[in-house]
Amino acid sequence: MPRLELDRPFTYRLPEGVPDARGHLVSVPFHGRTVHGYVLGPAAEVPDRVLPVRRVLSNVPVVDATGLDLARWMAERYVVPLATAIAAIHPPRVAGEEAREVTEAGPTPQPRVPSVLGEFERGPDLLRAARDGEGVFLVRPLPGEEGAACLEAVQACLYGGREAVVVVPESEPLPATARMVLEAYGDAAVSFVGGEPRDRYRAWLDMRAGRYRVVVGTRPAVFGPVRRLGLVWIHREVHPAHREERAPYYRTRDVAMARARLEGAVAVLAGLSPSGDAVAAADRGEATVVRAPRTRERQRAPLVETVTPEHEDRSRRLTELLRSARGAFLLLSRRGYGVARICRACGEPARCAACGGTVVLRGGRAACTVCGAAAVCPSCGGTSFGIERGGTERLQEWAAQLTEDPVLRVEEGALAVPPPPASVTVGTAAEVKDFGPVRLDLVAVLDADRARRRAGITAAEQSLATWHEAAAWAGPRAEGGRVLVQTRDPGDPAIQALVRWDPWHFHRAERRRREEAGFPPGYPIFRVTGREGLADALGALPPTHLLSSGAGNETVCLVTLRPQELPLFRARVLELVGAGVATRVEAEPQP
Ligand SMILES: [Zn+2]
Ligand SMILES: [Zn+2]
Repeated sequence: MPRLELDRPFTYRLPEGVPDARGHLVSVPFHGRTVHGYVLGPAAEVPDRVLPVRRVLSNVPVVDATGLDLARWMAERYVVPLATAIAAIHPPRVAGEEAREVTEAGPTPQPRVPSVLGEFERGPDLLRAARDGEGVFLVRPLPGEEGAACLEAVQACLYGGREAVVVVPESEPLPATARMVLEAYGDAAVSFVGGEPRDRYRAWLDMRAGRYRVVVGTRPAVFGPVRRLGLVWIHREVHPAHREERAPYYRTRDVAMARARLEGAVAVLAGLSPSGDAVAAADRGEATVVRAPRTRERQRAPLVETVTPEHEDRSRRLTELLRSARGAFLLLSRRGYGVARICRACGEPARCAACGGTVVLRGGRAACTVCGAAAVCPSCGGTSFGIERGGTERLQEWAAQLTEDPVLRVEEGALAVPPPPASVTVGTAAEVKDFGPVRLDLVAVLDADRARRRAGITAAEQSLATWHEAAAWAGPRAEGGRVLVQTRDPGDPAIQALVRWDPWHFHRAERRRREEAGFPPGYPIFRVTGREGLADALGALPPTHLLSSGAGNETVCLVTLRPQELPLFRARVLELVGAGVATRVEAEPQP
């Protein structure tokens, strides 16, 4: 049952003539209702009274023995019921598809693959392991080579006679790395992104049947049931979309590492700027860092300079560089045209009448950034405000006065396009995607301090990753590649990590900061909701850190624990759920 208080196996009798239905979906009577269940295996002890299974629903197992091991690992790691974990690893059944025959697989193409990893530190180890070994690798490709690095590892895996899975954070637009791999392997590769339930179940059944050598897709692809798993490649592993936002709240990075361990395969955590958790895994000796020799990294990096921001997140240096640039990207975290400061009618500070939130001018309309309500002065009902200009819309207007080139503005991920040459693109982090190699004269980070100081445990590492990904568009310093970062704190570790093109510099400082805050990288974090007494009950365990807050009858606790304490923590939480003290558990919450 997908409920923590009922998270245990129940025993039923299978119909005559069904010898082994392990992994099949069945319907069973449960307290007067008919519910779905998964057959886990023969019962060790048979209770006195055993009810019969009503029907075996699936013609094929929806979870195999390895899948069940992975589900058990997820149930423990994210403190979810086993049924919830199993449901996450297979797509919803579409019964009609189970009867269809699997089309025969053709020969696997052998595309010409560029060699980039062979010259990396520990790169040959990765390629060897992808062919016929196992392990976890943290890969930092050179700018413009993310797709090539992935392709080379996939090729090595296929040479070894095993199958590869490539997981990308999003599908709109599909990252260039995913497109490259799909094009290279044509009919032997399957794209597992979006689509109708029927097509998704069909693709999944075909994967199980061994129809494909390569699976490319978003989050659920990390469970792709290929025959002999050799490689799971997590593209831009730091990206927040690699976390599932519903139970079991899994992260593809963790699942890839668990699958590699369970199936004797290789997991790769890739990106131009790693996550704190990936770096922590490397520091614990659980992952091998694969990167270009330092001299080559520096040669391929753009020249990064810092300058103090002036009026409206601009600077004289920015004006100067933008005037001479052919092709520029201006990154700004603040959208709109400006922030409303005072009511023009009564002179009171401007704020949302409904919720007290900040009012911004966006698309010609003044509205609350928190609740979206049209702005009305809470004091006098006025609707005209004194605006402090600044934001993507204002920046676009300003840039258009400086250049003859077209000036684009992109603020929504689904509308992201490669920044065209001979134009200026103004955008938020939503525009920073894997478009494959892009070459611009100038990339500018306009409000670095505002971006890295956003709320959230991982705000700084996310900002740094976005900067590295955008800065890669500027090209090598020897070819004039230039990045301008506007900051009042040029010595900040995140800023310095970009200047030196060295994310490890940032992560050393970040690790200390997070340890002091009680959230060391690599330690599981849970948000547990319940009633009074919850904090004391959880505090009786040895959590490394516990924050609790109460509102009305509800108590919310944020718990950090050592990875080895997970089994104890899970057992305790199950007791608390059974006693009604805890009502909800969420793993790895995004504050
Ligand atoms: Zn007013
Ligand atoms: Zn509001």
